[in-house]
Amino acid sequence: MTNNALEDMARNYSFWQHKYGAYTPNDPLPKGSYNADVLIVGAGYTGLTTAREVKRDHPELSVMVLDANEIGFGASGRNGGFNMTLFGMEPEVTVLRWGKEKAREAQAYMQKAVAYVHDLIENEGLDSDYEHTGMWRVAYTERQEKRLKNTYRLLCDLAKDGSYCFYEQSKVREKLNAPHIRAAIYEPETGILDPCKHVRALKRLAEQTGAEIYEHSAVTDIRRTQEGVVVHTSSATIRAKKLVLATNAWTHTLPGPRKLRSRQRAVWTYQIVSEPLTDDEWKTLGWGDRMSIEDNRQLVHYLRITKCGRITMGGGDIGFEYGNGMDKWHDENVWQDLEAHFRWLFPSLAHKKIDYKWGGAVSANFDMVPEIGFIGDQNIIYSTGCIGHGVSLTQLNGRLIADLIAGVDSELSRFWIVNRSAIPVPPGNVLSYLGVKAITGVLKGVDWFEERNLHKAYDAMTEGQSNVT
Ligand SMILES: Cc1cc2nc3c(=O)[nH]c(=O)nc-3n(C[C@H](O)[C@H](O)[C@H](O)COP(=O)(O)OP(=O)(O)OC[C@H]3O[C@@H](n4cnc5c(N)ncnc54)[C@H](O)[C@@H]3O)c2cc1C
Repeated sequence: MTNNALEDMARNYSFWQHKYGAYTPNDPLPKGSYNADVLIVGAGYTGLTTAREVKRDHPELSVMVLDANEIGFGASGRNGGFNMTLFGMEPEVTVLRWGKEKAREAQAYMQKAVAYVHDLIENEGLDSDYEHTGMWRVAYTERQEKRLKNTYRLLCDLAKDGSYCFYEQSKVREKLNAPHIRAAIYEPETGILDPCKHVRALKRLAEQTGAEIYEHSAVTDIRRTQEGVVVHTSSATIRAKKLVLATNAWTHTLPGPRKLRSRQRAVWTYQIVSEPLTDDEWKTLGWGDRMSIEDNRQLVHYLRITKCGRITMGGGDIGFEYGNGMDKWHDENVWQDLEAHFRWLFPSLAHKKIDYKWGGAVSANFDMVPEIGFIGDQNIIYSTGCIGHGVSLTQLNGRLIADLIAGVDSELSRFWIVNRSAIPVPPGNVLSYLGVKAITGVLKGVDWFEERNLHKAYDAMTEGQSNVT
């Protein structure tokens, strides 16, 4: 690994940002007073898609976008790149809390979202390294396989015909040399992309419509006044008729309306990427379909092939910090566990080095379902709770928010996550910290129980392993 990679990791850049190389951000918003018809805070997939869609609908509106960092620094430039249909945490959880009809609507929304991203990339010729590969959800143990079959039946009930197939182990083995995988759900209409290339392509598209984007321009205050909303950065004031808060996992840290503090919390997920595989290694492994893969553990692992011939894997344990800090992007223990899982899953690659590792924050709310809401009247809109499944969701949400801004009554704007009654995050740092710890503890307990017969082999893998150089 080069020094450059070590420096980039120390700065908390993702592999995708590192691979992207030199990037020149737009200038910060200069000192002064401004007016905007629509002001968007946060320039990830949500903010940039909203900006573009608003300008396309209404070119006469002035649209300004502010981001505290450079574009791609948030989850949009550091995710796994799965263009996928999973809504919230699990279909079972959505059905339990919201019933089958709403779960069906959510499934249809997510299938539309995946198509929205795929079509956008094709129609606009975006250089996002997109591959429409399909996706597997896999089980390692008998109990997980039993649960996988139930999930498959539920998904078939919720989704349109032909959305999913079930692969028994013999079929799995034809397609991938991963001896511990016992079964898989295959979902063909999904894909993978390079998240950083994609979010920066979205920036270009938004600018082409005339949206003004300022980077390194953190919002430090938000107030409602008679004439609209007044937003401050450290050196500028913007009066906006409509304000969109597209700040994802940072939303609880925003100044101003108290409601924002109880919408969600940041939960950290971590990723590693291997050194490139040789032609012989790819041959031994199979994986000719290049599908992305998630397992059906409670604390899910996700993995995929990169365009540059590596394997990236994320997930497993999660991070949560006490208070409002946004600094838990590194966790050596989780990276080590990921490395062990990689070697266990692919014995033929046990010698491979891990070249790069990073972490990022997802927005998790208390009832594990996305939310688009208002502060007071409909002039301040926020979007939270992607729960780590936001690549497709947040981009269609951007289209939906454009409808809300225009006051259009559409199929999208009637989607039930808009203005839904969400369970607030418990007040104060102690309660929310204990709440998340309790939920994580239960999830870990279920994984431990379902995988108890795998533990010996797994522990042997974990002992003394840190192959990152
Ligand atoms: C490691 C990881 C892997 C993931 N993998 C997948 C995946 O494979 N598939 C999937 O569907 N989803 C995945 N996700 C989730 C997905 O990436 C997110 O749901 C999605 O990118 C969120 O987009 P966003 O625009 O809402 O937020 P973000 O991209 O997080 O953007 C929020 C922006 O707000 C800015 N901001 C914060 N505070 C302020 C402020 N005060 N002033 C101005 N700007 C501010 C931040 O700088 C940031 O750029 C993953 C997430 C992570 C972290």
